[in-house]
This record gives sequence, C-alpha cells and structure tokens, in this order.
Amino acid sequence: MLSHAEASEKFIANQERTDWHDDTLWFVRAKRDKASKLIPEWEALREHASQIKEHMLSNLPQYLLEFEVNAQANGIQVHWAKDAHEHNEIVYSIIQKHGDKALVKSKSMLTEECHLNAFLEQKGIDVVDTDLGERIVQFRNEVPSHIVLPAIHLKKEDVGETFHQHLGTPKGNKDPQFLTEAARIHLREKFLAAKVAITGVNFAVAETGEFVVCTNEGNADMGAHLSEVHIACMGIEKIIPKRQDLGVFLRLLARSATGQLITTYSSHFAKPREGQEMHIVLVDNGRSRQLAREEFRNSLKCIRCAACFNTCPVYRRSGGHSYHQPVAGPIGSILAPNFDKKANVDLPFASTLCGSCSNVCPVKINIHEQLWFWRQDLMKEGLAPAGKVISMKLMAWVLSNPSLFKWAGAMGRKVISWAPWLVNNGLNPWYKQREMPEAPKQSFQEWYKSNRS
Ligand code: SF4
Repeated sequence: MLSHAEASEKFIANQERTDWHDDTLWFVRAKRDKASKLIPEWEALREHASQIKEHMLSNLPQYLLEFEVNAQANGIQVHWAKDAHEHNEIVYSIIQKHGDKALVKSKSMLTEECHLNAFLEQKGIDVVDTDLGERIVQFRNEVPSHIVLPAIHLKKEDVGETFHQHLGTPKGNKDPQFLTEAARIHLREKFLAAKVAITGVNFAVAETGEFVVCTNEGNADMGAHLSEVHIACMGIEKIIPKRQDLGVFLRLLARSATGQLITTYSSHFAKPREGQEMHIVLVDNGRSRQLAREEFRNSLKCIRCAACFNTCPVYRRSGGHSYHQPVAGPIGSILAPNFDKKANVDLPFASTLCGSCSNVCPVKINIHEQLWFWRQDLMKEGLAPAGKVISMKLMAWVLSNPSLFKWAGAMGRKVISWAPWLVNNGLNPWYKQREMPEAPKQSFQEWYKSNRS
C-alpha cells in the first residue's frame, strides 16, 4: 500500500487534472459559503447541532436502546453488530433467508468501511450500487474518492469511456445528459429485478424509532420502495434524540455538502410497508473505542457532509484515493488511526493544520486539533517513519538551543546565497513545485538590533 505522500505524488503528476480537481472542489466550497450566508443564524445553528451531538454522545447507550424499543414497536427488525465482520454476516444471513442473488444498494459509507460489497461478492451475490457516482466507480473497480461526490476524480470523458465499455454507449460520447439517461435505463432494470435493497442511514431518531436517508437521486427510495426486504446499515453515532433535531441537521447537511438549501430527497422510514421486511443493523466497529478517547470523541459528531474535504488544500490537491481509506480527507485522517494506528500513521500528517476544516464543519468538530493530537500520539508510540522521528528530534534540538539556532540560520543563509544548488535541487521535495526565495542578508534578530532605534 502506498503512503499518502507516495500516492499523492502519482496524483499530482498530472498537473492539469490536479488543477481541475482543485478548482472543482473549491467551486463546491464556494457554493457552501453562499448557502450558509443565506441563514443569519448559521453560527447558532452549528453550535446547536454540536451540542445536540455532544448530548447524544454522552447518553449514547440510553438513546440506542430507546431507538431499538421504538423501532421494534414500529415493526422494524433491529440487529447489533460489534464489528465489520458481524455486520457483513448479519446482512448476508438476511439475504440468504430470501435466497436472492442480486441486490441494489444506495450510498452508505458504513458499508464501504465494512467492505460489504467484496464480502457479498465472494458469496456469489451481485451488488449493484445505485448512486450514479458509486455505479461509475464500481464499473471501474475503484472505491469512492469522496464521501458525497464518489466519482469527483473523474472527468466526463472518463465516464463516457466507462459507460461505453460497460453499458455499450457510443464511443466518444461524453454528454452528461446522455450518459445520465443511459445510467438511468440501466439502473431501472436493476431496481425492478431486486428483491433486497440496502440503504445507509443519515439520522436515526431515538424518540420515534424512524430513520432518515438523504439522497439527491432518489435511488434509496426506489430501492427501498420496490424491494421486498429493506436493510438499513448505520453506525451507532447516527442516532439523534428527537425528531425536532432533524430540522437542525437537515438545514446544515445539504448546505455544507453541496451548497443546496435541502437535499432533494430526505426520506423518513418509520415502518415496513405491508408485506415488506425492514431491518436495521446498528454497527459499532470501533466507535465505542473512539468514544472512550477523550481527545477524539468529538469526531463521532460527524454527519459526513464532506465540507472539510472540499476546503482542505491537501485533499483538493492529492485526491481521495491517496488516503487509502473509505473515508478520506481531514475527518478520515482522524477516524482511520482509530481502526489501525500503524497502517494509517501517515494520514494525520496529510494536513497543513490550517484549520479551514474546523471552520467549515457544521457540527464544530475541532478537526485540525485532533489531527495534531494524533500526530503526538503516533510519535509517542514510535510509529512515525524513522526519517520523520530523526528530523523532528534534530529540529527540536536546534530550536531549543539559541546559539545553535543562530549558527544554523547563518549557515543556511550562506549556503543558499553561495551554493543555491545544494538546496534548490530535484532531491528537495519542497523545491519541486515552488520558487525558493532568496536568502535574506541578515537574520530578523540582526535586523531588529540595527533598526530598533
Ligand atoms: S468532519 Fe465536519 S465537515 Fe467533515 S464531513 Fe464530518 S461533519 Fe462534515
């Protein structure tokens, strides 16, 4: 597996595509800004959402049990899964009971996290992702590169070629309207044939036992309404106490995600329709562990809007696949070490710590601080690469020793002026895409001494 830095190097090798990716996501970020400014009480809304989540996290067991009781009273079958494997086995056992070999699935980052598609495919089940972006990446044997815009790393030419190969559309046709209609016809057949539909869950209401799924394409509704069995999969942190809280989160979610005033479909599922089976799988998979980590528990407030992705200068210029995890971007870099510190040691370092992520987060997660906390934790545990450990120790030694610092500064200025090639060469990654400044003639301290009068 490539580290974030290695994978990013491949991504940025295509300068034109990198600029386009950067601009496209910044366009979404700008839409978010406009939409948020239409609400005068935006900051109060963020604070309120954060507090609701804070309260929920402090009372999580109680709200989960309340949800279970109310959902069961509504006729929903509730399952509990401690990890990804249990989740996958539960879903498979439900499918097996109905003897079906194909199903439709709308977007669910939890099922990506649990690698459900690969698990079911090994068991001979054909999983059809029905979100357009997810279907595109599924055709290409890729994983989503963004939690809201799964195929944002692809251009319309790529989609045209993919559809030509898999759906038989004319070669070279890259018209988005035409390609969307081709996908619509293809997916319609899958919806009509499937007996089982899987959806994610955006919010589950403890008070009523209902859950809400937000999509822009209506694909979750198509799947759930046409199927005989609806399986909804959710992480336990998706619970909210009351139905009235939905108004807070639904106003924040779409605006933060895409700059829309509301998601096109915010569908409430309260009970199975007559003759239908409805299941919900509540999944822990490391969430309790994260809840117990004081510095990181806030990350469980996340409503997966991806605003932190769209604003992050590192995400925008390194692409989602560089993060080698189903949830990429700043929040993914906090969640991933909770699963496996060693395998994800690179991710908390994939940030400038500029804090833009924390500024846009609708539930006010202190994202950049948590990235910094992870860095400290991983360094303390000796998991960071040896080069980083040695250079940081060296740096700490120089910075904590004033005479050494002065001497190193003077030497640095001399080397840059006399032999710039020693620093500005292809071996220095900083130089590769930057104009290195000329060395100043004196240090700030020297300048200050001579100018203080
Ligand atoms: S951390 Fe905040 S900004 Fe990022 S996806 Fe989650 S809710 Fe959205």
